[in-house]
Amino acid sequence: MEKDVIVIGGGASGMTAAYFAALRGNRVVLLEKNEKLGKKIYITGKGRCNFTNDSSPEEAMKHIVSNPKFMTGALRAFPPESVMRFFEDGGLRIKTERGNRVFPLSDHASDVTKTLEQYCRKAGVEICLKETVRSVSKKQCTMPDILSENNTMFDILTDCGARTADAVIVATGGLSYPTTGSTGDGYRFAREFGHSTVAAVPALCGIETEGTDCAQMQGLSLKNVRLSALRKGREIASFFGEMLFTHFGISGPSVLSLSSHLNRLPLPEVELRLDLKPALTDGQLDQRLLRDFDADKNKAIGNVLGGLLPKAMISVVLRRANISPQKPVNSVTKAERKGLLSAIKCFIMIPSALRPIEEAIVTAGGVSVREINPGTMESKLVPGLFFCGEVLDLDAYTGGFNLQIAFSTGYAAGNAV
Ligand SMILES: Cc1cc2nc3c(=O)[nH]c(=O)nc-3n(C[C@H](O)[C@H](O)[C@H](O)COP(=O)(O)OP(=O)(O)OC[C@H]3O[C@@H](n4cnc5c(N)ncnc54)[C@H](O)[C@@H]3O)c2cc1C
Repeated sequence: MEKDVIVIGGGASGMTAAYFAALRGNRVVLLEKNEKLGKKIYITGKGRCNFTNDSSPEEAMKHIVSNPKFMTGALRAFPPESVMRFFEDGGLRIKTERGNRVFPLSDHASDVTKTLEQYCRKAGVEICLKETVRSVSKKQCTMPDILSENNTMFDILTDCGARTADAVIVATGGLSYPTTGSTGDGYRFAREFGHSTVAAVPALCGIETEGTDCAQMQGLSLKNVRLSALRKGREIASFFGEMLFTHFGISGPSVLSLSSHLNRLPLPEVELRLDLKPALTDGQLDQRLLRDFDADKNKAIGNVLGGLLPKAMISVVLRRANISPQKPVNSVTKAERKGLLSAIKCFIMIPSALRPIEEAIVTAGGVSVREINPGTMESKLVPGLFFCGEVLDLDAYTGGFNLQIAFSTGYAAGNAV
């Protein structure tokens, strides 16, 4: 039966949901508060939009941090492979880069939005821009002849007037980068229907650290390092790869991933350990130090570590090892060498805060998935009410997985509506 469907939010998940709902023969209205669709998509992947990851649903699930199991069905129904085909069929030429990250060949995020928008327009979705939804409520129909299947209808109040619908898909996003339009409105709509929401916290963001060591090295980026987080001596998570020192602490790929595991922890209990030479065992690093020292016996130690450490790190590492940079190598004691080794293999940083949610790439938390049907994205509390995308308590690592979540959940909602 043809239904009147309102989709709130014209981001990646909302456009996907609107298109598939319209394809199924429903009358679909897409309401977007901004002057254009997909404002967040424009800034994704540094303007290039890493829109999915060419991996199996099982592999993609391993990159989802919150509630990966909830995504099993949706990812199988609309996996990365189908998302790639969907965009190609829509005329987007695509390419796959390092780590199976998929981008538009043009390197223009706007082409991803254009493709989605064209799909929607061709399927007959009525797109209403500059229309902010203020409230959604359920009304019980009184006239039996206009009763919809499940006896519910929704009243939607927007700043342009009142609308009604048989089904509503909430695709309002999370709280990160609110200038793109995602200001958490969907959480309020969900709560007004009795849904629980998990507190929204930043994920994929920089980490502020105590002290001045990191700030002193700001601008320095490191490759092939291992960054681990421990709480009360137990490892929480560990990532190998790249990171960057900044004025507030640390950022870069490994740090973003790590932040998604720290966002609900009391940070004073957490210790970050950076292994600057993860490919070397302690013994191998000691041998390397001895060789380097032997080659430059009479030089100041501050001048012989250049082969092992970036220049900007040498003074910081030596300070932590309690060795003066002027100290001649031939007078460095065994104990001092041990301290140096430890400062290189276990460079400790104490996190003081995560960067604010406004700067986070995604929001962790949101509408609790326990009250959502994972196959259809329909509310278990209110028939006809659906949620998709970042408004749900789902978040993943970088690599195209967050947009994949938006597409898979949007597909599920649009088809089920
Ligand atoms: C800087 C940055 C880079 C990123 N890069 C990537 C990447 O390369 N790959 C990746 O997979 N993910 C990336 N992400 C994450 C990804 O962009 C999001 O997870 C995804 O866009 C979420 O889609 P969504 O449709 O659920 O929400 P959104 O894109 O946030 O869309 C929600 C829409 O709803 C509208 N809206 C909200 N409230 C209302 C209302 N009351 N009435 C009407 N409209 C409303 C908003 O204006 C917005 O357009 C990045 C995020 C950021 C911030």
